[in-house]
Amino acid sequence: MKVNLSQAPIIDAHSHGFRAENLVSASPEGFLDRITVMGMCFGSATGVDPALAGAVSAMTDHTLMAMLTRRRLAEYLDCSPAELFQARHAALEADPQAYVAKLMHDANLSALFVDDGYPLPKVDQLEMQKLVGITIHRVARIEPMIEVARQQTHSAADLEEAFRTELETAAQDPRCVAFKSIIAYRTGLDIGTPDREEVNASYQRWQAAGWREGRDISKPLRDHLLNVTFEIAQKYERPIHIHSGAGDTDVVLSHARPTNLGPLLTRFASQPTVLIHSGFPWLSEAVYLASLYPLAYLELSLYLPWGMLDMDRVLTQVIGAVPTNKILYGSDEASEPEILWISAKEACSALERVLSSAVERDFMTTPEAEQIGQAILARNVLRLHGLD
Ligand SMILES: [Zn+2]
Repeated sequence: MKVNLSQAPIIDAHSHGFRAENLVSASPEGFLDRITVMGMCFGSATGVDPALAGAVSAMTDHTLMAMLTRRRLAEYLDCSPAELFQARHAALEADPQAYVAKLMHDANLSALFVDDGYPLPKVDQLEMQKLVGITIHRVARIEPMIEVARQQTHSAADLEEAFRTELETAAQDPRCVAFKSIIAYRTGLDIGTPDREEVNASYQRWQAAGWREGRDISKPLRDHLLNVTFEIAQKYERPIHIHSGAGDTDVVLSHARPTNLGPLLTRFASQPTVLIHSGFPWLSEAVYLASLYPLAYLELSLYLPWGMLDMDRVLTQVIGAVPTNKILYGSDEASEPEILWISAKEACSALERVLSSAVERDFMTTPEAEQIGQAILARNVLRLHGLD
């Protein structure tokens, strides 16, 4: 019997904010450019060459994510693929709220975990909640807090104090369900335990460098502040989401592999920690960590939906080796709401295929497979964040 998840609610464990006015004002013809990985990162990364925009856009029609979305969204909007940009824009412009909320409903999406650190300035999540028509849970990113604290202070000790206040304030917001760090984009995932002297010296170097980031400059201070975050997260019982693996081109690629996280996960073994992106593209390293560290969780965005043909392999490997109650569905939408929609739908289909195959091969029964599917799509993330 085929595993059926068509009625299963879906919660996106990792996504980003957007505003109605920006969706409407963005160029209709650029829509598909903005949903490919290259196009989306071209919009969000720092240090990209704007002169390459044409080259990025020339890839769109040759990228599966764009090809599939063009066809599926045209079916959904009841227009031909050639009319897609116009039809989509007309529907969006007529009533952004109705358009976006209907997409969420069509994909069975019932809640979004939204990382508040991108885009900046922060998207008002209560406004966004009205736009999408489903619950938004806030994931509070620590790097903007560090930035705020740095601008208000003149020493490492004062910065740490102000940062602790920022963390405590976020922890007291009932909508804030987790902390998030993108230290892989700053100084790398090999988090150490610098002593007070090293932290102070790091602050001095960072200040002298005009706040230019670098492993030789700001790493001890950043590492220390992440250790502080783990302390506060434990106190307030909030999971920590940590970007693992590659991403935009401004990541510290040499120290982005998930195995770098080993010492941190060992030190804070009792702190629930989500490896956002499951170490993309180093999946086997993330699978190894999650299969051995009891409180290390995997979130699957980037492989889903952008892996496309590869989604089945990824789900097979993860479900095969990691306790299935530690696997979280996520999309990493960071540009257009249709990414939330197509990702949820395609991930659901891929899960059905992979779990059906597991049943066929007698690794599990159909009811077990459906429970695993429902858990990956929604229940695991709720339970982990105390929302069930
Ligand atoms: Zn993200």
